[in-house]
Amino acid sequence: MTEDDVPTPVGALRRIAFLLERGRADTYKVRAFRGAASAILPLPQEELEAAAAAGTLTDLPGVGASTAKVIAQALAGQVPTRLLELEEEYGDPLTAGGAGMTLRGALRGDLHTHSDWSDGGSPIEEMAMTAIELGHDYLVLTDHSPRLKVARGLSAERLARQLDVVAAVNEHLAAAGADGFRLLRGIEVDILDDGGLDQTEEMLGRLDVRVASVHSKLAMEPDAMTRRMVAAVRNPFTNVLGHCTGRLVKGNRGTRPQSRFDARAVFEACAENDVAVEINARPERRDPPTDLLGLAGDIGCLFSIDSDAHAPGQLDFQVLGCERAEEAGIDPDRIVNTWPRERLLEWAKP
Ligand SMILES: [Zn+2]
Ligand SMILES: [Zn+2]
Repeated sequence: MTEDDVPTPVGALRRIAFLLERGRADTYKVRAFRGAASAILPLPQEELEAAAAAGTLTDLPGVGASTAKVIAQALAGQVPTRLLELEEEYGDPLTAGGAGMTLRGALRGDLHTHSDWSDGGSPIEEMAMTAIELGHDYLVLTDHSPRLKVARGLSAERLARQLDVVAAVNEHLAAAGADGFRLLRGIEVDILDDGGLDQTEEMLGRLDVRVASVHSKLAMEPDAMTRRMVAAVRNPFTNVLGHCTGRLVKGNRGTRPQSRFDARAVFEACAENDVAVEINARPERRDPPTDLLGLAGDIGCLFSIDSDAHAPGQLDFQVLGCERAEEAGIDPDRIVNTWPRERLLEWAKP
């Protein structure tokens, strides 16, 4: 980054937040920057400049000492120091040698993302704006379902309200000229112990895309787990089988072994029912493991490469999944995110 590309104050604050999130910083470290960016977004430039000149930026609601410094430096035509430091620390490509980049360029959207309506860290519109900046044609918003109380899963009523917000965001974006982009209605629905889905059929039917995932009783007996997953895959509402083994390979939540199940039976059910196997790109998940990814590929499954982002900067994780799909030699046309949006929506219809 050079003096030639000094960002706007809002641009600097949002880029700092993006880099922190991409580096998987805790939400509380990011909140100040995203909060300050949205606080100053509607203010006229002259008002900001006057506050900077008078040294009263921190009097603005939502602006603290560190964010005021970023704003003042950007207004003065400097690349903010904090931004330079973070570009140094986190700005490198997530994969080495351009791995995954060709496939990443072919992806048109992301099918698995969370907002602050469940356990994500940012508002819906912030996720959508960042998706546009990353070049996506669509983003599927997939907040959690009611049973996942720790993640503030959405009841049918809250989901219905969320759909109104999604419609409003789309209207606003279209009016603002971003009419090539659409925020799609989705869910990450819990797979119940018996393989049922944790949301009403009425609400599932109102959505564009449904990711079904196991989040409880991950250590279930293999036969029961196989029956549970196959039943979920056969459910006509299911489009994507999320992070199928549930394993955690690193990270601040510790590690967790993969669930045991008959992977051939589950993936054959996916292939028969046109359900995509998710390649979950989160660095701590890398799910499915390489051997199972190969098996799903051999069986002829469809795939969806998803960031499972819980913050805007984590949308960038997708390239990690692309790298793995390329290594596994998966044909891009079997990856549903490479399809035009209309084809995706047609495929996802129950
Ligand atoms: Zn999940
Ligand atoms: Zn998720």
